[in-house]
Amino acid sequence: MPSERVDADANLPTPNFTFDPDAPCTCVTGVRPFREGSYRLDAETASGKFVVHNYGHGGAGITLSWGCAAKVKEIVQKRIAVSHDTEVAVLGAGVMGLTAATRLRELGLKVTIYSDRRPVQTTSFKAGGQWAVSVVAFEGKEEELKGIIKTAYTTFKNSIGKGFGVSEVPNFSKSVTPGLEKVMDLVPGLLPDRVSLNRLPFEGHTKPGFQYQTLLVEPPIFLPRLERDLKAAGVMFVPRKFLTKADVLTSLAEKLIVNCTGLGAKRLWSDDKMVPIQGQLAMLPAQPALKYLYGQDGYMFPRSDHVVIGATFEECSDSETLEPDVCKSLVQHMASLFGQAAPITLPHFHIHHPSNARLVNPPLPITV
Ligand SMILES: Cc1cc2nc3c(=O)[nH]c(=O)nc-3n(C[C@H](O)[C@H](O)[C@H](O)COP(=O)(O)OP(=O)(O)OC[C@H]3O[C@@H](n4cnc5c(N)ncnc54)[C@H](O)[C@@H]3O)c2cc1C
Repeated sequence: MPSERVDADANLPTPNFTFDPDAPCTCVTGVRPFREGSYRLDAETASGKFVVHNYGHGGAGITLSWGCAAKVKEIVQKRIAVSHDTEVAVLGAGVMGLTAATRLRELGLKVTIYSDRRPVQTTSFKAGGQWAVSVVAFEGKEEELKGIIKTAYTTFKNSIGKGFGVSEVPNFSKSVTPGLEKVMDLVPGLLPDRVSLNRLPFEGHTKPGFQYQTLLVEPPIFLPRLERDLKAAGVMFVPRKFLTKADVLTSLAEKLIVNCTGLGAKRLWSDDKMVPIQGQLAMLPAQPALKYLYGQDGYMFPRSDHVVIGATFEECSDSETLEPDVCKSLVQHMASLFGQAAPITLPHFHIHHPSNARLVNPPLPITV
């Protein structure tokens, strides 16, 4: 990893921070399905059904999705070698359900997706889309995670330019980015080395910083593409809300079940390790001239639909209520980092719960 600082290139374009928090679709509130200790990726047999669990990926579900889907496929492949099942029920139409269903189709199984939300209504659809291992716990699963990270990154990277909404972009930050450092630590060489800069290449920035190269996965392109491909391959999407584990186990005809219900697993599978972490995002109009991610004390991800400014981290809140005032503050804060607005104190920017320590890679609290 090079440590010597290099001079930044000429300034990159400054974002336009004009924002109307009351306009439609400018504020988004989602809830990260964080699981204490570790995400869940394992199988159990219950009431004659074989259930594979794939949930609890916190702030990194988009990032890890293809890698986890490959693991689900491995587990199911071993199972059907002895059980000869031909049908599988996937619970959940978020990124975990859609990627798992895609891989399970490759086994020649008849796949049906059951979900009480359509893909565009899920938490996955609301995500910012940076490829980084953030706000997810993996105690005792380092080896497994290395494989997941490698598969996920490689699959996303290979899909660039193929209509999945994936691109490779520079990511600038004032200090090191834990979610990318973790990847470099676990799988050295997967991401390009970070570069230390004498200053970040933006108007109003005079202090040193870092440039990473990572992927941007745009959920409003990625999820509909997966949904279209699955439907074209004959996968049925069935609207359905399950109330209890018994409901799942007794009402489905399929003997193979893959549980990708995210935060829903807290109630459905009585999983008390699941902790909601609410996040709010502000959506500025798209600005195609911005071809970089900016992440520090909040982040900015210019996508083709919007410039996404985030995010808050409210542990133990599962509210999806929109809060335009918070979104307005997020934008003002980001604008202030670019010298475009007065600094602002934000009350909602960090995990304020005393259990911070149990989060792996917690986002840094904002100090303004
Ligand atoms: C503000 C914010 C920003 C984020 N940014 C990023 C990012 O930049 N990068 C990244 O990698 N990740 C990010 N994430 C995290 C990412 O969104 C999640 O990790 C991911 O969406 C989890 O996917 P999932 O499929 O497990 O859950 P979900 O998308 O929530 O899908 C769960 C599915 O299960 C269904 N379901 C649940 N319970 C039931 C039930 N009882 N009956 C029937 N169906 C049920 C739901 O309807 C839904 O279809 C962000 C999250 C938030 C909130």
